[in-house]
Amino acid sequence: MDDALIAGLRAALPGATVWGPDELASRDPGADARNFAAAALVRPPDADAVAALVRWCGARGIALVPQGGRTGLTGASATEAGQVICDLGALRGTEIDAAARVAVVGAGVTLAALQEECAAVGLDPGIDLAARGSCTIGGMISTNAGGAMAFRNGTMRHRVLGLEVVLPDGRTLHDLTRVLKTSAGYDLKHLFIGAEGTLGIVTRAALRLEALPVASATALVGVPDAASAQRVVGRFLVSRDGSLRAAEILWRRFAEFMRRALGFDAGLLPIDAPCVLVLEVAAGDDAAARAALEEGLAEIWEEAGIIDGVVAASDEQARRIWRLREETELIERMHKLPPSFDVSVPGGILDAYVARIEAELTALDPRYGPYVFGHLADGNLHITVPVDGPVSHAAHEAIEDVLYAGLVAAGGSFSAEHGVGLEKRDAWERHADPVKQDLSRAIKRLLDPEGFLNPGKIIRGDTAPRTQDH
Ligand SMILES: Cc1cc2nc3c(=O)[nH]c(=O)nc-3n(C[C@H](O)[C@H](O)[C@H](O)COP(=O)(O)OP(=O)(O)OC[C@H]3O[C@@H](n4cnc5c(N)ncnc54)[C@H](O)[C@@H]3O)c2cc1C
Repeated sequence: MDDALIAGLRAALPGATVWGPDELASRDPGADARNFAAAALVRPPDADAVAALVRWCGARGIALVPQGGRTGLTGASATEAGQVICDLGALRGTEIDAAARVAVVGAGVTLAALQEECAAVGLDPGIDLAARGSCTIGGMISTNAGGAMAFRNGTMRHRVLGLEVVLPDGRTLHDLTRVLKTSAGYDLKHLFIGAEGTLGIVTRAALRLEALPVASATALVGVPDAASAQRVVGRFLVSRDGSLRAAEILWRRFAEFMRRALGFDAGLLPIDAPCVLVLEVAAGDDAAARAALEEGLAEIWEEAGIIDGVVAASDEQARRIWRLREETELIERMHKLPPSFDVSVPGGILDAYVARIEAELTALDPRYGPYVFGHLADGNLHITVPVDGPVSHAAHEAIEDVLYAGLVAAGGSFSAEHGVGLEKRDAWERHADPVKQDLSRAIKRLLDPEGFLNPGKIIRGDTAPRTQDH
């Protein structure tokens, strides 16, 4: 059956790369082992070929799963036997209008490649994440990625000015607006941002750009709690001298784990505090950036109750500090598939939230003392329970009950920036507003009545694709 499918795909899409199961089995599937469980991968050379592939699969009821850099963390690009992957990696090409600070970008361009092209003209995409070398603009749009600068520049939703999207019926929605202001009826592009490839395939996007900072400096600051860290951040948000680019927080258990895992000397970085804060400030030159950090910290030191702090004296030291926050894959080297979560917590309840989950998780199981870290300035916490997974369904549900209790009612979210995919579907069904769920199912049925585009992601597969001969 796979041979007939692959022959059919090759005949229908002569310009596309097509791999079968053998080629898939010999390659790296990325962040999720299920990414390459499909019968075939097709890499269309351009947007027209994407539309042709969508029509071909749609006409045959063959499930089609869009994939970009395969760095997604919720199983949103996972595949099953018999399905076809639409790999967007060949949709490259970036056009930058430096005066307007806009880039029109192919969906398959990686964030790092876009950052490099923008930097050449003194600009920056205004969004950054540790997966930058692999994650693609199409994938970031489809998960509404956030990252370290979201408090300042918004999430991907706020970076997108316009989109080109192939719909499940094979038509292309051309909405490549390059301007910020457009009040011309329903702003349909937002339907596809964060839709995880279930409503259409993004082929190109117009993105806002920011000025590239000339220089930056990094500090590591030990504080007693998140409230203290927020006071420090508040000082830098109103700074006249430097502009705050990142404010990442690590609770002690995670900071200590990372320091040990990276082999850093305990005396080298002052992280013996209940929380540590990684701050990055940009300014006109290195000395000005460092001075802005040093002066700002000195000014707020007593008021915020800072325990200790160091401003990186070199790029090497700054890199070390960032490794503490970013090399989170070290957790997976210690624990196989540990249960991991990504929540948004309103700023005013951060300390109470962390204290509650700490107490309730360790009451469930003493090994569940969580690693907690994240993007302080927007309240996005990443939480990993340091045990081997997958844990039983009941244990997973019990952990989720602790983490999500009261969160939506308080104005937070059970999924901050990683999406729903397969992993958060139960949470979506249990915690998302029922009317939102009804509307979401209706929109899915309207755009994809056969349910063949990335089936079962976000919404459980009540519109399973039919199967047919090729
Ligand atoms: C080390 C690491 C750090 C990370 N840090 C962050 C972080 O700080 N902030 C954050 O928000 N996320 C983070 N992530 C996860 C994040 O979701 C992804 O990095 C990124 O947004 C996904 O892009 P991708 O190209 O890899 O998409 P994929 O993983 O390939 O796909 C993700 C989803 O998008 C869909 N999709 C992909 N391309 C398209 C397209 N062109 N059209 C329609 N649908 C498409 C897929 O079907 C799937 O549903 C991190 C991941 C890793 C591994």
